[in-house]
Amino acid sequence: MIITCPKCGVKNRVPTSKMDNRPVCGKCRAPLSAGTSSGAPIDITDNSFENEVLAFNGPVLVDCWAPWCGPCRMLSPVIEQIAKDYTGRLKVVKLNTDDNPKTAMKFNIQGIPTMLFFNRGEQVDRVTGALPKQEIEKRITKIV
Ligand SMILES: [Zn+2]
Repeated sequence: MIITCPKCGVKNRVPTSKMDNRPVCGKCRAPLSAGTSSGAPIDITDNSFENEVLAFNGPVLVDCWAPWCGPCRMLSPVIEQIAKDYTGRLKVVKLNTDDNPKTAMKFNIQGIPTMLFFNRGEQVDRVTGALPKQEIEKRITKIV
């Protein structure tokens, strides 16, 4: 499958079998995030947020959640299905707001689940609540 390098924009051909061992860009050696194409959401933190979301040269859905939050648990399989459906087109990441308060504060997250939508490092949309899959997809369609 083809993965665009988040740093230099070069397209890399990566065998699907190699997706699990964190491939790097052939030109600049930047890590090609497995989350872009492996079809599963990846967990990010305050520390990796900038690299995984802001520096990513494409659309990203950030699911902000916490372990104690019931609606977040309801949303979780929907987010996983979206990651699968949009493999290679949308990066899907999860941020535990209990463990990563810095990012939650920066984006003024008052309630969870909150989904933040980014494109090329810019926040373009956000929504709070466990929405049905088709409602989330309406928003995704605008950025992919
Ligand atoms: Zn590169």
